[in-house]
Amino acid sequence: MARILITSAIPYINGIKHLGNLVGSQLPADLFARYMRARGNEVMFICATDEHGTPAELAAAKAGKPVADYCAEMHEVQAEIARGFRLSFDHFGRSSSQRNHQLTQHFAGKLAENGLIREVSEKMIYSIDDGRFLPDRYIEGTCPNCGYDSARGDQCDNCTKQLDPTDLINPHSTISGSTNLEQRETKHLYLMQRALKDKLEAWIDSKTDWPVLTTSIAKKWLNDGDGLQDRGITRDLHWGIPVKKGDQPWPGMEGKVFYVWFDAPIEYIAGTAEWADANGLDDAAWERWWRTDKGAHDVTYYQFMGKDNVPFHTLSFPATILGSGEPWKLVDYLKSFNYLNYDGGQFSTSRGRGVFMDQALSILPSDYWRWWLLSHAPESSDSEFTWDNFQTAVNKDLADVLGNFVSRVTKFARSKLGETVPAGGEFGPQETALIADLGARVRDYETHMSAMDVRKAAAELRAIWVAGNEYLQAAAPWATIKTEPERAEAQIRLSLNLIRIYAILSQPFIPDAAATMMQAMGCDDWTWPEHLSDAIRALPAGHAFSVPENLFRKITDEERVDWQARFAGVRT
Ligand SMILES: [Zn+2]
Repeated sequence: MARILITSAIPYINGIKHLGNLVGSQLPADLFARYMRARGNEVMFICATDEHGTPAELAAAKAGKPVADYCAEMHEVQAEIARGFRLSFDHFGRSSSQRNHQLTQHFAGKLAENGLIREVSEKMIYSIDDGRFLPDRYIEGTCPNCGYDSARGDQCDNCTKQLDPTDLINPHSTISGSTNLEQRETKHLYLMQRALKDKLEAWIDSKTDWPVLTTSIAKKWLNDGDGLQDRGITRDLHWGIPVKKGDQPWPGMEGKVFYVWFDAPIEYIAGTAEWADANGLDDAAWERWWRTDKGAHDVTYYQFMGKDNVPFHTLSFPATILGSGEPWKLVDYLKSFNYLNYDGGQFSTSRGRGVFMDQALSILPSDYWRWWLLSHAPESSDSEFTWDNFQTAVNKDLADVLGNFVSRVTKFARSKLGETVPAGGEFGPQETALIADLGARVRDYETHMSAMDVRKAAAELRAIWVAGNEYLQAAAPWATIKTEPERAEAQIRLSLNLIRIYAILSQPFIPDAAATMMQAMGCDDWTWPEHLSDAIRALPAGHAFSVPENLFRKITDEERVDWQARFAGVRT
């Protein structure tokens, strides 16, 4: 039994995520966690909401709520949707937790002790009417280059010129619209990543089994241009983790908080501590996942994320961990994803273009989405959701292949042979060939799942379903029962057992349908089919089964057209 630690990139708190977000981290992480558990490993699967920073403050202000209340409510909303998609987190934490406060302050203190923090005085724009410093993107004005009147403080969206807020003509706050702005001196902490560059590069070079997408992004940030830069880890904000050196005050940094990108990845660790707290366990229970001096030496740590998050996970977070000088677990394998596009364009949260997680669950159960998203995961390149493709995949793979097999076998068996596994006949050459074929396919499926090759695993699972259907079609028990009833009994005995095996193999992809199949087989033995010739005999003659409700329904053309129009854009 191996010990597997899995974290999914943590979704930001301000609003409900779309299907592209889901397939870029949480869903494939769940697939992997479910598979690793099914193989008998000890798994810790952690996710959380990312709750700090200016966007949370602004979203709360827009909703007319205190930011802490807003985050608490949105966390519940996201947790409920995660349950709806059957995301099997061991804990869904919050980056605003006391655990994360303590750990973030602890890491900052260690980094300071090790001489890796420097203080920098800089001039920033202060909005007198808002009573706060403004991040660059919350200042707008006229572009000095092209005259566009809504250029942001960091860049003009019209001519793409990189800007400094002081370059703007007639700058104003996007929070209040106020032009009552001035430059003020402020002091911030910088993590001296440049001093850690060699350590980081040596560590990345040791990861020869990482995907090219991951290492190439990390290397680019390490070496391109001026190379890896020191990074500001504090902000002049109210909402966040107060800057402290461990549990001690940090002179000169009063009223400031850590930058959200500094504290967010630390929440992976804090979330595991929250898990221990929620289960009444002591610190040793979570430290054995994270501290190599306290039991984590045999843990393999996997991270899942979209490609835009790779620099933070290959450089920034490891810089925090390596720089602490303490024996914390570093990531062993990092699985990153390209983007999922939507129906000829991009998903857009602001314009409501595409299907959002709550909407998806309101029109179809989660298995339909899980299957399509995972079998089309944007691994080697971006992929695209289209309603045509979704309808075809659901109707063919789920309804025609898997659902039809289960329905035909159970209904035929009940009507002709009764509601127990029939006893007659022996397996012949046809059955032996199928068992050998499926045995080889299950080994391939295991290989793809272990390697986190999501699409290949889905394709193999589909092939395993197809093999059962083809067998049923060729064996034709509805014909053999007329001439060789014993043979028909053997065929149905194999097919009923195959439904149980399908439940086990399919569970990481479509957990609800898998549970329905298993329940219909009157069984709760989820033992992985190591040896198919044994597994295909697990349900003995005389074992009772039932006919399940239709596993999957087909998507009609009318629905496809309706949904395509409904999710085309502009959400209110
Ligand atoms: Zn411009």
